[in-house]
Amino acid sequence: MVGYNDEIKEEVRNSNDIVDVISKYVPLKRRGRIFFGLCPFHSEKSPSFSVKAEEQFFYCFGCHAGGDVFTFISKIENLSFKESVEFLAERANIKLPVTDNYKDDPKAQLKDRMFAIHADTTMFYHERLYKPLAKIAQDYVKQRKLDNKTLKSFKIGYSGEKNELYKFLKFKGYSDKEIESTQLCFKVDSGEYIDKFRKRLMFPIMNVTGKVMAFGGRRLEENNSAKYLNSNESLIFQKKSNLFALNLAKNSNSRTLILVEGYMDVISLHQRGITNAVASLGTALTEEQGKLIRRYSDKVVLSYDSDRSTDKMQY
Ligand SMILES: [Zn+2]
Repeated sequence: MVGYNDEIKEEVRNSNDIVDVISKYVPLKRRGRIFFGLCPFHSEKSPSFSVKAEEQFFYCFGCHAGGDVFTFISKIENLSFKESVEFLAERANIKLPVTDNYKDDPKAQLKDRMFAIHADTTMFYHERLYKPLAKIAQDYVKQRKLDNKTLKSFKIGYSGEKNELYKFLKFKGYSDKEIESTQLCFKVDSGEYIDKFRKRLMFPIMNVTGKVMAFGGRRLEENNSAKYLNSNESLIFQKKSNLFALNLAKNSNSRTLILVEGYMDVISLHQRGITNAVASLGTALTEEQGKLIRRYSDKVVLSYDSDRSTDKMQY
């Protein structure tokens, strides 16, 4: 089987009502039997984008974009048709069969393993934050007034010492090659593996679908290592085309995004109920990030601080 068969596609389609799906991206207003909104695919001031619930179709009278729920998702999320089936299957909790494509695609398989490593690592770091050995991290979190709900929703964690993560991942059955591909652990001259992040407060970086693909780690001990350390770019992580917390901010029901500088700024704002804040993952904003922002918002508020102190957001 190369793609997914019609039966499974139908099941996924039926489990994702088009009005429901599109409403997450475009505010829709009902006019009789048709829903209208501002087209996300071209720029306009009066709504010519229509969605018909009965037919499960959308159509724009301005730019003539149209199709079913798969077409919509592949256009708005920049996904292939197959990926849009997977995206919507995940949304509806439908387990898809393995396709032949996948069996013959070592890169797709490695990507899945890398996502699995990141998911396991997130849990490893997060659970560790609650242990007595994480006192330094707990003190910091307390000082920054982060509550438990915030720690849970951002899956904040505390990284281990030396090669604790490496040992954990080996115990979980990952190969050295898979672990190396994530660059979360690296081999030193002696042939041993060392964790990249050690004794840092860990912020998982998620893609728009909420899958962890990288980490940012804040130094907790006073030493001369970098204050913030980020994951290296990899098969599943490109810094320039992602924004921190977009997976949460895109569900905030606001068509405005607030762009701030750092992880802690975003987290503090979300904790105060300002859930449409995101952060770029480097210093300069890239074109790809700009496109991403445009896809999820009509307005951006920049809140960069050129001479920032780390305690800026602490009121
Ligand atoms: Zn249009």
